[in-house]
Amino acid sequence: MTDQDFEAEVARRVEAFSAQVGPGGVPFFHLPGAPEGLCRCLSCGDLLADPYPPRCRACIEAAHKVLNNLPGRCPR
Ligand SMILES: [Zn+2]
Repeated sequence: MTDQDFEAEVARRVEAFSAQVGPGGVPFFHLPGAPEGLCRCLSCGDLLADPYPPRCRACIEAAHKVLNNLPGRCPR
């Protein structure tokens, strides 16, 4: 996967995950229709080379982007 492909995958997830943030909080992000199973990313269902971490790189990156852009987040 090229860097450009990776960024496109991240952007697709940022869009889907952002839509799941509600006034009550942040759910566990997932892509609609993602397959479930052993050694699959919990968010998008892509097969993982290792079971941990349980999300693929694109989902981790996308989740960080969405969470870092929430208004009123706790300062670090
Ligand atoms: Zn994923």
